[in-house]
Amino acid sequence: MNEPDCLFCKIVAGQIPAERLYEDDSLLAFKDIHPQAPFHALVIPKRHLATLNDFAAGDVSLAGALLLAAQRLAALHGLPGYRVAMNVNKEGGQVVFHAHLHVLGGRPLKGALG
Ligand code: 5GP
Ligand code: ZN
Repeated sequence: MNEPDCLFCKIVAGQIPAERLYEDDSLLAFKDIHPQAPFHALVIPKRHLATLNDFAAGDVSLAGALLLAAQRLAALHGLPGYRVAMNVNKEGGQVVFHAHLHVLGGRPLKGALG
């Protein structure tokens, strides 16, 4: 366990159930519990990094792997288009402080991002 009080670390550890979609040594993808689109997944590093600001130069390949996992999820689920977003800090709309990409799709997406 990375951070005993972190919700997403508990999901990584299997202590809280989640609908897991994809996983490898460094990352995990699972369905968002309150989907905002027909398809809404979260992609997280297995290692606890609270926000994007905690990624360092040594995490470049991890950051890229998160994006490629989003791409793979979209392909696996037949999404012709999708949106990838990451909220950073409270002011950026982040609620869970274990960094995660949102992957949304399954209907035409429009609307303001901010
Ligand atoms: P944030 O606002 O931090 O970028 O997004 C956090 C996301 O985590 C929200 O979309 C929320 O629905 C999702 N979430 C919060 N708690 C849980 C949970 O226990 N399980 C799952 N699967 N998703 C969660
Ligand atoms: Zn965590």
